[in-house]
Amino acid sequence: AKENGKNQMEIYSSEINTLTMERFTMENQLRKALEREEFVLHYQPQFNLKNTEVIGIEALLRWNSSDRGIVSPMEFIPLAEETGLIIPIGLWVLKEACRQNKYWIDQGHRPKIVSVNISARQLQQKDFVQTVKSILEVTQLPTQYLCLEITESTAIKNIDISMNMLKELGELGIKIAIDDFGTGYSSLAMLKQLPISNIKIDKSFIRDMDVDKDDAAIVKAIIAMAHSLELTVTAEGVETEDQKNILLQEKCNYLQGYLYSKPLPAEECLRFVQG
Ligand code: C2E
Ligand code: CA
Ligand code: CA
Ligand code: CA
Repeated sequence: AKENGKNQMEIYSSEINTLTMERFTMENQLRKALEREEFVLHYQPQFNLKNTEVIGIEALLRWNSSDRGIVSPMEFIPLAEETGLIIPIGLWVLKEACRQNKYWIDQGHRPKIVSVNISARQLQQKDFVQTVKSILEVTQLPTQYLCLEITESTAIKNIDISMNMLKELGELGIKIAIDDFGTGYSSLAMLKQLPISNIKIDKSFIRDMDVDKDDAAIVKAIIAMAHSLELTVTAEGVETEDQKNILLQEKCNYLQGYLYSKPLPAEECLRFVQG
């Protein structure tokens, strides 16, 4: 039995070593990814539910790694957040999204709002507001065409710090949206203390709302509550006509999902930008 235990320990610790090595390797590759220009943004259009007009575009990060191929943000954002690499990466995302949006506007397309995901680590940076300001200055994107998406948990985690920063950003004309709403423990009334204009209902509630009465009830309640607080609502992850029709009936404002479009490379998103 003693022998056995020892072997198990050895196996266990070698598994830990493999995991640590993997993380270490990935961290180093992530570090190099910025220099090697391996990051790219895809863009997913957001539609006005009533008339299907495109009102905005969410920028979503992709890593085209020379070692790993295309890596989903779900696989590397958590590590980037842990290691702090999300700071330089997030800076690049913000700059690139603003640059691209300004370029589209300069091409003569009707201006759209570009939405950028902001992680908790970024919001904890004391100079975050200044950073955003200088990016808007450099790219010349008018402030009203930028929206920052902050998850419910990020907003609540730092509510005191967030409050002041988001107020400053709001005063500049930048829009703030609460992402993944419904997955955390905050209430809309609580979030309403922040200068937010839009909430995005998490796609886990949208997914089954056409077959699950509970999910449908939650979605309806969120929409009604948001509207009574004078916030607009985006449903994300909309994949079916049935889901869209319920959302339309409940007077949800905006739709984002595969039903109309997946996230696309900038050139392919152009046809939506034109529309
Ligand atoms: P998110 O901000 O909630 O973004 C929406 C995710 O839902 C995207 O996944 C999008 O591709 C996916 N999606 C959109 N419509 C549908 C649909 O109809 N059905 C389904 N099943 N999925 C849909 P993606 O691009 O893999 O991004 C995953 C997450 O990674 C994002 O979730 C966000 O939390 C994070 N992320 C992506 N880009 C960035 C970034 O630049 N910075 C930070 N901090 N996080 C990012
Ligand atoms: Ca988002
Ligand atoms: Ca989301
Ligand atoms: Ca249920």
